[in-house]
Amino acid sequence: MSRCLADRAIDHVVLERGEVAHTWRTERWDSLRLLTPNWQSRLPGFGYTGPDPDGYRTLPEVVDFIAAYAQAISAPVRTHTTVTSVSRTETGYLVRTDQGDWSCRTAVIASGAFNIACVPGVADRVPRPVTTFSTQQYRNPDQLPVGGVLVVGASSSGTQIANEIHRSGRPVTLSVGEHIRAPRVYRGKDLEWWMDAAGVLDERYDKVDDIARARQVPSLQLAGTADRSTLDLNALTAIGVKLVGRLAGITESGKAQFGGSLRNMCALSDLKMNRLLTLIDEWAQANGLDGVVEPPHRLPPTEVEEAPPLGLDLANGEIRTIIWATGYRPDYSWLELPVFDRKGMIRHDGGVVSSQGLYLMGVPFARRRKSTLIDGAGDDARDLSDHLASYLHGEVLRTT
Ligand SMILES: Cc1cc2nc3c(=O)[nH]c(=O)nc-3n(C[C@H](O)[C@H](O)[C@H](O)COP(=O)(O)OP(=O)(O)OC[C@H]3O[C@@H](n4cnc5c(N)ncnc54)[C@H](O)[C@@H]3O)c2cc1C
Repeated sequence: MSRCLADRAIDHVVLERGEVAHTWRTERWDSLRLLTPNWQSRLPGFGYTGPDPDGYRTLPEVVDFIAAYAQAISAPVRTHTTVTSVSRTETGYLVRTDQGDWSCRTAVIASGAFNIACVPGVADRVPRPVTTFSTQQYRNPDQLPVGGVLVVGASSSGTQIANEIHRSGRPVTLSVGEHIRAPRVYRGKDLEWWMDAAGVLDERYDKVDDIARARQVPSLQLAGTADRSTLDLNALTAIGVKLVGRLAGITESGKAQFGGSLRNMCALSDLKMNRLLTLIDEWAQANGLDGVVEPPHRLPPTEVEEAPPLGLDLANGEIRTIIWATGYRPDYSWLELPVFDRKGMIRHDGGVVSSQGLYLMGVPFARRRKSTLIDGAGDDARDLSDHLASYLHGEVLRTT
């Protein structure tokens, strides 16, 4: 957004509570690699130029990439400046920070969608000897005591962390709720390549049937590994990870209870994956790629044991750690404006917030399916900075 505002000669400042790329420096586990290939992190006027476009950036590489971009575009960033409140004034907004106040006619909220780990309410009932970590607190298996681990959540973060912990010698049980299975490589090409080429990631918020639902879809079960392997539930059971259903509750005596729909969850996930692969096959055929790339194929169904356990005693010492990989939500505690819906999310139309001159970026499906990806920021920023510039020039505005 800063780059797009500069292109339009709009005077602006970027306020950041930490260093540039703060979340990547402080809120991710050590071994994380981007699940998007190197070529895919395209920012306005800046992209990957190294020798491994199909590789996946390590955490330090992501930090370097974003910091290099801020430098390359001379972004006017004020680091170590925490926004403590934003409120309406007659002419725009008053932004209070721990380093002084700003007034502005327009403001862009780009504070991220993943500020707070969503830990289920039943976490209060976890027996005392069991240590718990959210995905933001987890760094590596050395933090964990020896012994069994329950990982709750089987999307991108949960499957990667379950894999790493199990390989460290701690037996892992993985509690599986709604998730979307995805092959890393399909017909010889990265799944992200297909989704990019076929326009899946460019799908617009005003063209999907149920945008409220689309904004809640969990992340694809993808991982960026050096060998480009698929990390699905079959890969995890193959190394000995035990699957159980969705965590439904924890009794007062410390017994975890799991839903009985694990098989259905997995069948649904297989179905969604196959729907995506069919869409890709149709696009490949229509665009003359049949015969050029590998032929279509399907993955074997997810294997689930006949009667997965419905309970697990958390008090008998077998489980020593629980990892909550149950998603994230944004933190808008500093936003003092009547712009929230019943769930505490900001009401907006493709990033244009109902309060005039206020914009929102980086939240799920803000304008496009890729809106929460690094790669999605550029297109959204171009559109929203156009809108913002028109607003400043007093033009009549449409939301799209
Ligand atoms: C586990 C995980 C893995 C991911 N993997 C990928 C991936 O492989 N590829 C990909 O493209 N994307 C990935 N993402 C998404 C990515 O992290 C970002 O969400 C996305 O790039 C959008 O960036 P952003 O700048 O909008 O948000 P963020 O990167 O969250 O940045 C928001 C910034 O706002 C600052 N901030 C927040 N509140 C305040 C405040 N009150 N005052 C001042 N500053 C504040 C934060 O410190 C932070 O630096 C992943 C996210 C997570 C959680």
